[in-house]
Amino acid sequence: MTPHKNPPPAGILETVKCNLCGGSDFKVKYDSPAPSGAPGEMADYLASTDRYGRYGRIVKCPSCALVFTNPRPPTENLVASYCAAVDPDYTREDASRGINAFLSLATIRKFVKGGKLLDIGCATGFFLNVARSDFDATGVEPSEWAALFAREKFGLDVSCGDFQKTDFAPESFDAVTMIDVIEHLCDPSAAIEKVAGVLKPSGYIYLVTPNIESFSARVLVGKWWGLRPAHLYYFSVPTLSALLAAHGFEIVMARSFGRIFSYGYWADRLKNYNPLFYKVVRKIIKAADISEKFVYINTRDSMEIVARKIPRTGDGK
Ligand SMILES: [Zn+2]
Repeated sequence: MTPHKNPPPAGILETVKCNLCGGSDFKVKYDSPAPSGAPGEMADYLASTDRYGRYGRIVKCPSCALVFTNPRPPTENLVASYCAAVDPDYTREDASRGINAFLSLATIRKFVKGGKLLDIGCATGFFLNVARSDFDATGVEPSEWAALFAREKFGLDVSCGDFQKTDFAPESFDAVTMIDVIEHLCDPSAAIEKVAGVLKPSGYIYLVTPNIESFSARVLVGKWWGLRPAHLYYFSVPTLSALLAAHGFEIVMARSFGRIFSYGYWADRLKNYNPLFYKVVRKIIKAADISEKFVYINTRDSMEIVARKIPRTGDGK
């Protein structure tokens, strides 16, 4: 274990083992002041929070190369904060999120055309709202506010709670999606095992998550946008593939994932890197009157992965 410069607040944050191989040794990859993680001070762990340069300590497992936040707030504090999360900023780009949902659906449809789909961590339901054109779509979401939003705005079938505690029928879904979710989970390995249980033989899982081995992540080092308090795990194609393989999946597609957002949204992401450049870009966007117009950009630092559940011997499929 490498000594670190920013000791976490004593007695609050917890040290965890590697979620992929179970190892307890690690090397510090990035170090920054840690958010407290105490109950009542969990705002940093909201999905839309981007406290650049204040994400705590991020380590790498020397055995399997999994990158994760360590130490981190106690699981009960994280779960309580997700359940209580009210995050109106998340809906600021709702039109863009709807379009991005179509991009994900188009990829999924290359492998599975219809049937039952479960979206884990469905947030306010933007993907489910699109997916229900092809699937009998169901969602589960820990935030009471987001689940209510999905039900009331879109009329979606969304239950509020922790996926690990749900009792969906075994082998009942044709597809399971986790879009920008796995990096937030306290126990990704347990989640993927449970997904394997609810998927039909030869069912598919679709994931989108930041890629810690991407060019941007390596060039921007500790200032990469993906490093944020709300992210507990930082996967690469090899580590996410290893996690999926450990639970009986085979990767059928892995590639970078671009997104559509307004020019104004993309420009705002420059603010933390280069304030002067941000001001120049903002002026150009204002002069051209394109702040609300959409543009597709693939920064190649998010990845989308599709994996197929390998039927067990005797399934006959
Ligand atoms: Zn490991």
